[in-house]
Amino acid sequence: MAFEGLSSKLQEAFRKLRGKGQITEADLRSTMREIRLALLDADVNFTVVRDFVKKVQAKAKGENVLEGLNPGQQIIKIVDDELTEMMGGETTTLKKSNKIPTIIMMAGLQGAGKTTTVGKLAKMLKEDDNARPLMIAADVYRPAAIEQLQQIGKQIDVPVFEEGTEVNPVKIVEDGLKVAKENHNDYVFIDTAGRLQIDEKLMNELKEIKEVAKPTDILLVVDAMTGQNAVNMAEGFNEALDITGVVLTKLDGDTRGGAALSIKAVTGKPILFTGQGEKMDNLDVFHPDRMASRILG
Ligand code: GDP
Repeated sequence: MAFEGLSSKLQEAFRKLRGKGQITEADLRSTMREIRLALLDADVNFTVVRDFVKKVQAKAKGENVLEGLNPGQQIIKIVDDELTEMMGGETTTLKKSNKIPTIIMMAGLQGAGKTTTVGKLAKMLKEDDNARPLMIAADVYRPAAIEQLQQIGKQIDVPVFEEGTEVNPVKIVEDGLKVAKENHNDYVFIDTAGRLQIDEKLMNELKEIKEVAKPTDILLVVDAMTGQNAVNMAEGFNEALDITGVVLTKLDGDTRGGAALSIKAVTGKPILFTGQGEKMDNLDVFHPDRMASRILG
């Protein structure tokens, strides 16, 4: 499970605080040191950790927690609030366009989980909102991607628009959007190509698709298992595309979880969903407050 190491280290730090009737400045310093190390060990971005510790210390000082009742409890509360804030504070949801269709463009590296996530989101909207989505297969470089999306489409009973691998992806998107309008689909997902790393050609193609589709949301799909690289990817894609949010996949795996904690703070863009497995139901709305509570145990 993600966050296991971080959770147990933070709980250990708090256990020591709880056991004390009075907490001295030295106790607070030593707790903050433990929290700092726990976050760094969990692979949270260095600058994010530094800012986090500063904020918690400033709050603890400002609220005079050491002189108050239950100082241990109060410090835990401050850490909880700041962790929530670090992950984006409020829960962010998908936007809905005021004229149909609402267009959601996906981006990300190859293997991050874009195609799978398109299926998961389409299924979620279909079930929760009675939506009639269309999925556009615009990943023409990985031949299996189109077939994979079609299989997912069959499984969740959502139509797929595709024109094979010979047509320019920008044209595929234009044609797909026409079909969506004719068929009154209320949501369109655009599954785009990914590469093994960010390159200029990929980014230019994504920029062109963005221009043509004018998406309501651009979701970047990043693999939580790649740690800080997930954060670097998010920064790179955000600079090029001005993404609106992130889907963090493979949080069911053995990741230390630091990426989940750093992405919002580094890029300014929120995590909307997390992928928790390969099945079409394994998608969760990301709630920063619930995640913080889960981590703090
Ligand atoms: P794409 O290249 O970005 O379209 O990536 P895919 O959607 O093809 O996913 C790559 C692999 O990751 C596939 O084997 C998926 O089943 C798997 N995958 C995607 N999301 C998750 C997730 O949240 N958890 C796990 N464990 N596997 C995932």
